[in-house]
Amino acid sequence: MQDRTLTAAVTPGETVTIAGWVHELRDLGGIAFLILRDRSGHIQVKIEKETMDEDLVEAATSVARESVVSVTGMAEEEPRAPTGIEVVPEEISVVAPAEPELPLDPSGKVDAELPTRLDNRTLDLRSDRVKAIFEVRSRMLAAVRTTFREEDCTEITTPKIVATGTEGGTELFPITYFAREAFMNQSPQLFKQLVAGSSIERVFEIGPIFRAEEHNTPRHLNEATSIDFEGAFFDADAAMTMAETVVTAAYEAVATDCTEQLEALELDDFTVPEPPFPRLTYEEAIDQINALGALDVTLGWGDDLPTEAERALGEEMGDHYFITDWPSEVKPFYIKDRDDDPERSTGFDMMHPDMELISGGQREHRHEQLVHAIQEQGLDPSQFEYYHDMFRYGMPPHAGFGLGGERLLMTMLDLDNIREAVLFPRDRQRLSP
Ligand code: ATP
Ligand code: MG
Repeated sequence: MQDRTLTAAVTPGETVTIAGWVHELRDLGGIAFLILRDRSGHIQVKIEKETMDEDLVEAATSVARESVVSVTGMAEEEPRAPTGIEVVPEEISVVAPAEPELPLDPSGKVDAELPTRLDNRTLDLRSDRVKAIFEVRSRMLAAVRTTFREEDCTEITTPKIVATGTEGGTELFPITYFAREAFMNQSPQLFKQLVAGSSIERVFEIGPIFRAEEHNTPRHLNEATSIDFEGAFFDADAAMTMAETVVTAAYEAVATDCTEQLEALELDDFTVPEPPFPRLTYEEAIDQINALGALDVTLGWGDDLPTEAERALGEEMGDHYFITDWPSEVKPFYIKDRDDDPERSTGFDMMHPDMELISGGQREHRHEQLVHAIQEQGLDPSQFEYYHDMFRYGMPPHAGFGLGGERLLMTMLDLDNIREAVLFPRDRQRLSP
């Protein structure tokens, strides 16, 4: 809109045109206040019924909440106004009316259930709290990008429609690709390795991953945003350091640049984690879990860590930490075994006290061993030929990780449900909007 002034930029003594949503209408009898909201904040518009033009008074007092209006008038200092300034209108026009019955209350005074909020996301995003989540998300992802660039990484984009899944299995969404079956990719893993093995060496990608997880949990989505890294001449330790750097940088950027948003989210005790994060081996982790007596059963070598076990250990650890040296049998074929012990892998997870954030590791870069590892997991090497073939032509040792974008945001902002961290979540029930 031409000559529109943002509410935050309105200065007393000027005639301004402001435009935005009717946040609130307070009718006090002889006087009414219309609170107008735009992306920069709020401002009070004063309507004096006795002295102002009748049509203008009618327009201002009959408009429904959340309608879009444009107001032209003189800005004046007014200590009693919420921002110390008010606009005395000469002209008010309704740009886009809202129906009087709203499916939810964007002011947040009346709580709505998550499904109602997600069905009406545009209205939901008008609340300061929800808007703040996505401002933080944007800042967080920008910090991740900048950090990878500072670490000499190249941003890449890999296909999301693939002929075979990264790890095969049941977590794939099949689609029809002309007359053939294809799948939505569950991870850029194999592609990022193929690029790390070129002389590009260090790559990152921020993109969607698709997982046909049957279960409905507060920390799983069927379409998630994965922050992936892969670096040639990296080992697991170096990859863990990179993971710490990226996660810490994301927190720092939010702490510095999103103070207003953190306030809207009532996170006054926001703290940046301090690297290096403690590194526990898998064995140490299960020993600790068993010692805590958090489960009815005793965990043994090769067991996955149940959610309650992760919780109990997380509570004990108190902040981010790594679990390293996972049993080779529970990690995918592309994870390299330790040179000193083939039962143990170089695979690691970065944990937030509440849940897993990252899985990573050094990769098997030797062609013969890789083909063998694919077979060992009951997969058909010929299906992965496009991938392992390239390992015959000078594939350096390399390592990397995948970090769940929504999990990072969710844990950073202490959100109860991962669906809060994505605009239009895809889950077992939800396919629109
Ligand atoms: P989990 O055991 O928690 O289901 P995973 O081990 O299956 O996770 P990975 O394949 O290791 O997940 O993926 C790397 C990271 O991507 C995870 O640590 C997590 O942050 C994120 N991620 C994976 N699957 C999902 C999902 N369905 N929804 C949201 N984030 C996910
Ligand atoms: Mg994992």
